[in-house]
Parts: sequence; structure tokens; C-alpha cells
Amino acid sequence: MAEETIFSKIIRREVPADIVFHDDKVTAFRDISPQAPIHILIIPNKLIPTINDITEEDETMLGHMVTVAAKIAKQEGIDETGYRLIMNCNKDAGQEVFHIHMHLLGGKNLGRLVG
Ligand code: 5GP
Repeated sequence: MAEETIFSKIIRREVPADIVFHDDKVTAFRDISPQAPIHILIIPNKLIPTINDITEEDETMLGHMVTVAAKIAKQEGIDETGYRLIMNCNKDAGQEVFHIHMHLLGGKNLGRLVG
């Protein structure tokens, strides 16, 4: 069994977070340490530790994460100016929380993404 993270507690409302969207598949909330004027995390309600643990049965939910990201970008007024979606996997990508999450970043020019 995968070990729960703080994100499971956020989903269950056991620890506070600024939740901007929630449904039966995903939860989205503002990052505690924003790296851009808009920095929101979209996470599945189901615990999946890393992208490597995704299975075919998760594909619908993953597509939903992107749809929700686009909806939130519109809500936040950055759909036309633009935004970036990022998912980190494991050490070299700097993954810190082992419950997959999509970062939605925007509200300024984010520059080029380089390694
Ligand atoms: P990672 O580096 O794993 O891709 O990103 C984890 C993100 O989760 C970081 O941007 C970090 O600021 C955010 N984060 C970690 N703990 C909490 C928390 O308790 N609440 C919120 N809202 N964000 C968190």
C-alpha cells in the first residue's frame, strides 16, 4: 500500500488548504509556496505516488485533470494570457510530495522552460 501524504489530508479536509475546485475525481488547491502569481495544484482524489504508478484505469481521470486545469485557468483569468502545466516525477525532477499532482502556473511571463 502506498503511504499517504499531506495531500490525502487536504482532500479529506483534515488540514486546511485554499481549495478552488473539487469533484469525485480530483481536488485543486493553491500551492502553499507559490512560484508564480497563480500556482495551483490539481491532484487525483485517489492516491497514486508517482507518474510511474499510473495504470490504464487512471487514463480518464488524468484527462479530467487537464480539463479541470483549463477550467481553473479560465476562472483565474489566465486562459488567454497563458499558463504552464507541470508534473514532476521522482528525484531528478524534484518531486517532493508522493501523491501525483499537476502544477498550474501563470499570471506572469514564465519564460522558457529549460533544463
Ligand atoms: P513537487 O515538488 O512534489 O512537484 O511539488 C509539491 C508542491 O506541493 C510544492 O510546490 C509545495 O509548495 C506544495 N506543498 C507541499 N506541502 C503543501 C501543503 O501542505 N499545502 C499546500 N497547499 N501545498 C503544499
